[in-house]
Amino acid sequence: MTTSHLLRFKGHPVPYIAAWSSELVPLPPVYAAPGGLAMVGHVRDADGVLWKPFGLRAGMGRPRYGTVHGPRQRRCMRRLLCQVCGRPADRDEQGVLWLLESDPEQPGWPEGQVTTHPPVCRPCAALAAQTCPHLGGKVAAVRVGRPVMDAVYGQRYFPERATAYPSQRDVVLMSDPAARWMLGGQLAASLLDATVVDLPELRAEVPV
Ligand SMILES: [Zn+2]
Repeated sequence: MTTSHLLRFKGHPVPYIAAWSSELVPLPPVYAAPGGLAMVGHVRDADGVLWKPFGLRAGMGRPRYGTVHGPRQRRCMRRLLCQVCGRPADRDEQGVLWLLESDPEQPGWPEGQVTTHPPVCRPCAALAAQTCPHLGGKVAAVRVGRPVMDAVYGQRYFPERATAYPSQRDVVLMSDPAARWMLGGQLAASLLDATVVDLPELRAEVPV
């Protein structure tokens, strides 16, 4: 396997969905409109979600490894692209390849899991397992037959007259009226027909 196709900064690979410093933009003023949260200069998308704005300048400035670039994350989810390299995620007869933090205590896991992490391609799987902090070293490879992008992760707001005040971060179904009061950050997927599989390369050390 090779990681030579990845965007790099000072020799280290930078995941496709990581934001770069040049892409962070000030948040325009938000306010409470009759139909939900509104933002100056921005409108809801076709699903009725108001998304936090980002610039599109990957590779410029410094990578912000801890900040997910919303538009690229959503592109990965909608098109089932690898979150590390942006190429098509791996797929076989059991479904699309996802890496999840394993949770054997949870009954039925991983069926129905909700995640904001997009899938991966096969060459990037081992690298992601080694370097993604959210996996916490307890990584499982899961094939997903039916990934459903039906929820939004973001910042909830609550209205008080014309003012909107930020509340907690949350995952809300797009069909839930509460989604109208979210500033969306990322698409969340429900993983249906999910099967844990053995991926030998996850046990190997990968040079990064
Ligand atoms: Zn990849």
